[in-house]
This record gives sequence, structure tokens and C-alpha cells, in this order.
Amino acid sequence: MVSSIYNATVIGKIIVNPDLMIIQISTDEPKSEFEAGQHTLLGLYGFEKRSSNSAIESFPADHDQLIKRPYSIASAKGETRHFEFYISQVKSGQLTPRLFNLNIGDRVYVGTKISGIFRLDETPDGTDIIMVATGTGIAPYISFLRSSIVDRPESKIVVIQGAARRWDLGYYSELTFLEKSYANFFYVPTLTDPDDRWEGYQLCIEDLLRKDILQNEFNITPDPERTRFFVTGKPEMVGHVSEWLHDFGYEKHHPDNPGEMYVEEF
Ligand SMILES: Cc1cc2nc3c(=O)[nH]c(=O)nc-3n(C[C@H](O)[C@H](O)[C@H](O)COP(=O)(O)OP(=O)(O)OC[C@H]3O[C@@H](n4cnc5c(N)ncnc54)[C@H](O)[C@@H]3O)c2cc1C
Repeated sequence: MVSSIYNATVIGKIIVNPDLMIIQISTDEPKSEFEAGQHTLLGLYGFEKRSSNSAIESFPADHDQLIKRPYSIASAKGETRHFEFYISQVKSGQLTPRLFNLNIGDRVYVGTKISGIFRLDETPDGTDIIMVATGTGIAPYISFLRSSIVDRPESKIVVIQGAARRWDLGYYSELTFLEKSYANFFYVPTLTDPDDRWEGYQLCIEDLLRKDILQNEFNITPDPERTRFFVTGKPEMVGHVSEWLHDFGYEKHHPDNPGEMYVEEF
């Protein structure tokens, strides 16, 4: 039977807004341990139903094709069976409208490997850590905070999360709670299209950084020796922040060429 490749079950689904969800999946077999920041594949067949608020597929998937895409894991690194993902629906995409149509108890494919060089555990002890994200780029940072915030009391850890509107800020409650709980953790949400009740920052991430928010608010200097940067999300933001960091002497991290700036676009 074609669906026998499915090896996991949906155990939780939280709709953040109609096009953003947190989905929790339990695999039939335990996976090898992973590091915070890594990703795995999720997959569904082309014959699965698409969500009711999706659009016509730009490139229709074949009925019997297993559509697979990588997703960052938001769970703490000790997990081997229960995995959480934060997913944005691409309305005309192949996989995400099918993922959005899943309900608790439905079956899904999870890749056999967990991989990725976006490894938050590689930062030297004592360095400050700045994590910058738009959209679902926040997922690897949630994994890191859930895994390691207690192990890094000597580091200042800052999460800067950019979104258009308040209801696009996934994990807002968890991040706010962490900020209240840990003296070395700072959460900076910023909105580009806020409503009247929003009292936080109202700039895009690039402008916040250019206005020296890190220096002024947290006494953190962008210095490759003392501060590591992680940047995930929209390619445009990632490009601008990378350029800004380059001027301070930051180099992009690659396993063959270690740098102080870790970058992932999606
Ligand atoms: C390392 C990594 C981690 C990621 N983690 C996450 C995550 O945590 N959460 C998350 O939401 N996403 C994540 N992504 C993105 C994810 O893998 C998918 O790309 C995304 O969900 C869209 O998948 P889709 O099948 O719905 O869209 P697709 O069908 O892949 O389409 C995406 C867009 O491209 C267009 N398109 C499709 N095919 C073509 C083509 N042949 N030519 C031109 N345009 C085309 C579509 O119209 C659509 O606008 C990650 C990506 C990477 C690389």
C-alpha cells in the first residue's frame, strides 16, 4: 500500500493564525539525538487533501508522489520521538497546504535523518548569542532555548523576532515567559504593521540593528570575538543583516570555514 511509508502520527496542532501553525508529531520509532538548530524532512503524498484556505497549486504534485521538504525542529534536543515544528502555509505550495489539512491522529512521513550546520551548541562558552528571525525562522531558537538556556548563565542571549502583525509572533508567550524567568535572556519582538495597542518596537529588524539597539539596550557590541549571531528567515532580511555584520568583521559560518555568523534562509 502506497501510504505505508508514513512513519509518524500528528499528536498536536496549534493554529497561530490561518497560515501559521505549530504541529507536534510522534514518530513510530525513536530517532537519533539531534542538536538544537537542526532540521528533518516532513512528507505527504500528492493524493492528500489540501487545506480549505489554500490556493491552486502552482506546480501540481503527482498523485503518488511523496512530497518532502525540510523543517527546523523546535523541540528540545533530548527528544527522540516527539517533534515540534512551526510551519507557515505557502498557499500555492505543494506540501504546506497538505500539512495544514492534517488533524490529530493523521499519519505523516518524517525523514530518517536529522541534519544541518545551523548548530547553536557550537558557540564558545561565555560568548553572547544574538538570534534574529522573521517568520518560522524562530523555530531553531525555540529548540536552543528549550535545550540550553539553563546551561549558559554567563552569556547574554537575545532573540530579535520580526513580524508584520501581533498575531504573526509565534511563541510570543513562551519567549515572554523566558524573559521574565532568566536574567540573561532578552526578547525583542518588533512589528512592521502594528495595531494601536502595540507598545513595542515598530521597525524592521535591519533598522533596529542599525539604530544600535544591542549597544544601547543590552550593552552588547557586535564583535566577532565576543558575540555570535544567528540569522534565519526571509532572504532579504538575512542578506541585509549579513551585510551589516560583515562591516563588523563577521564571516559566514561553514563547517570547512568556521565563522561567527550562522545563516539560514527560508
Ligand atoms: C533548512 C530549512 C529549514 C526549513 N525550516 C522551515 C520551518 O521550520 N518552517 C517552515 O514553514 N518552512 C521551513 N523551510 C521551508 C520549507 O522547506 C518549504 O520550502 C516550505 O514549507 C514551502 O513548501 P511547499 O511545498 O508548501 O511550497 P513549494 O511547492 O515548495 O513552493 C514554494 C514557492 O515556490 C514556488 N515554486 C514551487 N515550485 C517552483 C518551481 N519549480 N519554479 C518556480 N517556483 C516554484 C511556489 O509557487 C511557491 O510560491 C525550511 C527550509 C530549509 C531549507
